[in-house]
Amino acid sequence: MIVVGAGIWGASLALRLAESGRQVTLVERLAGDDPRRASAGATRLVRSAHGTSEFYARMAWQATRDWLALNERAGEQIFLPQGVMWFGREADGWEARSAEVLKNLDIPCTLLDPAEAARFYPELRHDDLATVLHEPEAGVVRARRATEVITGLAQDAGVTLIRGAAGPAGRQVVIDGEAMTADQVVWACGAWLPELFPGLPITVTRQDTTHFAAGWTGVPAFCDYSASAYGHGDVGGHGMKITSDVEGEPGFDPDSARGDILPASEQRARDYLARRFPSLAGVPLGLTQVCQYALTPDGEWVITEIEDGVWVLGGDSGHGAKHAPALATYLTSVLTGEAAIDPRFGLHQRDSVRGLRTSGET
Ligand SMILES: Cc1cc2nc3c(=O)[nH]c(=O)nc-3n(C[C@H](O)[C@H](O)[C@H](O)COP(=O)(O)OP(=O)(O)OC[C@H]3O[C@@H](n4cnc5c(N)ncnc54)[C@H](O)[C@@H]3O)c2cc1C
Repeated sequence: MIVVGAGIWGASLALRLAESGRQVTLVERLAGDDPRRASAGATRLVRSAHGTSEFYARMAWQATRDWLALNERAGEQIFLPQGVMWFGREADGWEARSAEVLKNLDIPCTLLDPAEAARFYPELRHDDLATVLHEPEAGVVRARRATEVITGLAQDAGVTLIRGAAGPAGRQVVIDGEAMTADQVVWACGAWLPELFPGLPITVTRQDTTHFAAGWTGVPAFCDYSASAYGHGDVGGHGMKITSDVEGEPGFDPDSARGDILPASEQRARDYLARRFPSLAGVPLGLTQVCQYALTPDGEWVITEIEDGVWVLGGDSGHGAKHAPALATYLTSVLTGEAAIDPRFGLHQRDSVRGLRTSGET
């Protein structure tokens, strides 16, 4: 079995396959800290609320428990279970619908009065909020570090890691002119998939991430679905993250050099700070990162066997990191023939639908 791409998806899959007894080769062309990899972002949110989708709520909750287990295995906190708050403008909106699903699945959550939610932060302007959904066991995964840890665990479990840029030739994987063959190949190549397999329903957009020099630690992460904004307190000294989930311009080249963020991205984050945490509106910028989404029209991932034994795994649509360990378990059962792949991940005609990310208005 060959897995190409050692981002958080490919590395998690390689680990789980090796643990289930498969012989696995993992191929990766970039260094672990290369900012072009989506999984090299400093942090990613882990939350179970997904509107009315039971499928993703269930997978995220399984993943939340997997992240806690990975903390134990790694002997360090790659996942910080500090909770996530969803700031809701309507009492019966997306947050309330999510809460209903979570409660039906026995996933811990509470709908709070906004004034009560404000007690979790040094400051929270809530006069425009009707309700706040609190997921107390959700949190933040240190994505880059998690990817390194999982890749290391995979190697400990017997996975062979090869450095190189791979190209597809049927069931062969060609690296520097040399072909390798396996019974199954999984191309987990993130934003590079559309170039490797033209015709996939994946669009690559530029996404800027902004952190601000504010030292709020231990506060719950937050999502403002209606404002398409999310963030968390200081994790690892990078400052408080406030980032827009609005889709950037399509056609972004994932190989492009990473420089400064766009002035408009900083402005959008500051506008949000001014509305929600006004005393932070003028604090200096901290860490910034330029990354990319690999978006499908409906936000559902692309997981499909495009020819006998050749799978593509991508189109994470900006909401894949949290699910990685649980998705790896699911895919292992598919690849070993114990389960069928859910048709939602196929190459059918997809309509434009929003809602699986944290962006209600884009
Ligand atoms: C700004 C931003 C914020 C996000 N926030 C969240 C969040 O809060 N919560 C969440 O769950 N998710 C979030 N995501 C999404 C999450 O980061 C991705 O779903 C996840 O990192 C995707 O992992 P991946 O392994 O598919 O992709 P990648 O990490 O990009 O990995 C793909 C790998 O394939 C390698 N590769 C490509 N082509 C080849 C080749 N030919 N040969 C060898 N190797 C190759 C690449 O070098 C790369 O390492 C966010 C994404 C962004 C950009």
